[in-house]
Amino acid sequence: MCSLEPDPKKALKDCDNTQILGNIGEGRDVAMACLYLAADAPFVTGTNLNVSGGAEVTGANKGIGYAVVQALCKQFDGDVLLTGRSEERCKAAVAELQKQGMSPKYHQLDIDDQASINKLRDFVKEQYGGIDVLVNNAGIAFKQSATESFGEQARVSCGTNFTGTLNVCNTLFPLLRPHARVSNVSSFVSQMTISKCSKEIQEKFKNPSITMDQLKGLMQQFIDAAQTGSHQKQGFADWSYGMSKVGVTVMSFIQQRELNSDPREDIVVNACDPGYVDTDMTSHKGTKTVEQGADTPVYVAMLPPGTTSPKGDFVSDRTIKKWG
Ligand code: NDP
Repeated sequence: MCSLEPDPKKALKDCDNTQILGNIGEGRDVAMACLYLAADAPFVTGTNLNVSGGAEVTGANKGIGYAVVQALCKQFDGDVLLTGRSEERCKAAVAELQKQGMSPKYHQLDIDDQASINKLRDFVKEQYGGIDVLVNNAGIAFKQSATESFGEQARVSCGTNFTGTLNVCNTLFPLLRPHARVSNVSSFVSQMTISKCSKEIQEKFKNPSITMDQLKGLMQQFIDAAQTGSHQKQGFADWSYGMSKVGVTVMSFIQQRELNSDPREDIVVNACDPGYVDTDMTSHKGTKTVEQGADTPVYVAMLPPGTTSPKGDFVSDRTIKKWG
């Protein structure tokens, strides 16, 4: 190009001066960029190469989500996005991981706030173009000593754990790339809770053809019944957190069924159980460390291409468990 200019030498020097590295690139630099992962690429400034993909982890400033980010930073070949509702808490978590030699990125995300979910979607779309791994870890649980009424606990628990997670999925799933992996962090209590429901309600949740609308209807029926204290009479368990996680587990089964007919190939969704983990949620009574708790959520997030099992399953200790 410079040779076409009236003063090729000056044009070349001008071009050099526009480059951060002080000289323009050569064919070799482009070739070396192709070998970027295997060799030095001296003309790569970091702005012209797109990163290979994005892994998003919700509710990751502490507890199991933090340990999931830590593990993904070591195992995932691409940027890992640590998200959470408090910028301050998330930035502190990122700084802690940086001290350990890792480089997670941060983006704000409150799964109860659709505007916040939309902002994350726009950021990811613009920055990465798609998602390879999504770990839906964010969740809440009332303490036994909580003074809120059962109806309020049901509304809030299901609102965040079920509806918030579903909203994140509905908003981010269009960005999932072929071979993407989704790890929905449910709980062993979802299994205990479904067994406490009436036979009729169990059959509705366990119906292999249940649709997402029917599931949303059942969850709403539970929340409404909880307001008047008639949830048990209607066949639901007397456990708001447990019912919210029943919703997360069944939601994952439905999502896989829906994605099986999606034109994007090989997308795998699983519900998983981290076990009983020593975190703020359990008032540090859990028997597993956060690293142990992160093991199964990360295992399902990193399932290799072409995985047929687990796929649309409930996974605990890296093993498919018959659910319900
Ligand atoms: P923690 O209470 O330690 O951490 C929960 C995380 O979720 C926090 O980062 C919290 O953020 C975040 N969060 C809560 N609400 C929202 C929201 N609206 N938007 C975004 N982030 C939110 O819990 P654990 O690490 O123990 O739990 C992680 C997941 O594992 C949960 O889904 C939980 O239900 C599940 N689980 C945990 C078990 C255990 O034994 N610990 C057992 C089985 C399942 P913030 O700091 O802002 O509150």
